[in-house]
Amino acid sequence: MARKFFVGGNWKCNGTSEEVKKIVSTLNGGQVASADVVDVVVSPPFVFLPLVKSLLHSDFHVAAQNCWVKKGGAYTGEISAEMLLNLNIPWVILGHSERRLLLGESNEFVGDKVAYALSKGLKVIACVGETLEQRESGATVEVVAAQTKAIAERISDWTNVVLAYEPVWAIGTGKVATPAQAQEVHCELRKWLQINVSVEVAESIRIIYGGSVNGANCKELAAQPDVDGFLVGGASLKPEFVDIINSAT
Ligand code: PGA
Repeated sequence: MARKFFVGGNWKCNGTSEEVKKIVSTLNGGQVASADVVDVVVSPPFVFLPLVKSLLHSDFHVAAQNCWVKKGGAYTGEISAEMLLNLNIPWVILGHSERRLLLGESNEFVGDKVAYALSKGLKVIACVGETLEQRESGATVEVVAAQTKAIAERISDWTNVVLAYEPVWAIGTGKVATPAQAQEVHCELRKWLQINVSVEVAESIRIIYGGSVNGANCKELAAQPDVDGFLVGGASLKPEFVDIINSAT
């Protein structure tokens, strides 16, 4: 089954309104592959979501970088799935390793968030990935399987999920996974889904790679059979994001 390429730009906690406008205008003006062949979703900080949504070419979509685990209420500092829907924000990134590691989000908490966001109608980019220590001790597959299992136990419909494999040691380090390393884990994730969820989900879900993807290394990664796109941090703030989108073709 052909899976449509997916490129997400995770802007993290960066930018001023002026900088954000500049990134959007570069993207809008770029010669990018058609929306028939690639889904492009950019994820600015919450405060810039309405601005970016209003300026972005209609072929591109926006994602929030997080949302609360249940209905809004007395949760100071949080943003609810309902609010994102109210602003017509279609996507949300959940379980990013920076939140898992710096803010202590557990597999179960991320699973609950994914389930709640999907139940409200959001589409989810769900992130999994191992630390360097876990990789070196041979636990990579076990770690990403446990992270995926916590999601699988809480959802039944995977249609609106994109799974992002982002090895922690590759994020923001310039130390990109080799195409073989990425392919190996993506293939293992697909196998896990085939055994534990269904053949259909395993075949149809987009599994994207993230961690030091740039304009120079994206083509080779994109050529791997189980790499269906990217989640891009640093390079999504730069003009080379257009080249990464175009690695779809
Ligand atoms: P990076 O970040 O591309 O800057 O390594 C990727 C991510 O954290 O999603």
